[in-house]
Amino acid sequence: MRNCNACQRLLPDLAFPSKGRQGRAGTCTVCVNDRRRYRMPLPPIPRDPVQIDLNNRADRWYGFVRPNPGWRI
Ligand SMILES: [Zn+2]
Repeated sequence: MRNCNACQRLLPDLAFPSKGRQGRAGTCTVCVNDRRRYRMPLPPIPRDPVQIDLNNRADRWYGFVRPNPGWRI
C-alpha cells in the first residue's frame, strides 16, 4: 500500500504502473490516464441522423423547458 503522489490516495502496489527495473511509478494509473486524457482531447462525435430525429421528436413531445416553474407559457 502506497500513497499516490498526485491524488494522495492510499492504494495497493498494483494500482501503480510498472517502470521495469525502477520499480513502480509514483502516480497511480488513474492519475496517469487523467493526465493523458487532459493532454489529448476526445475526437468529435460523428452526427447520427437517427439520434437527431429521436431527440427532436422527444423534445416536441415534452414541450419547451420552463426555466422557472412559476412562469406560465
Ligand atoms: Zn493518483
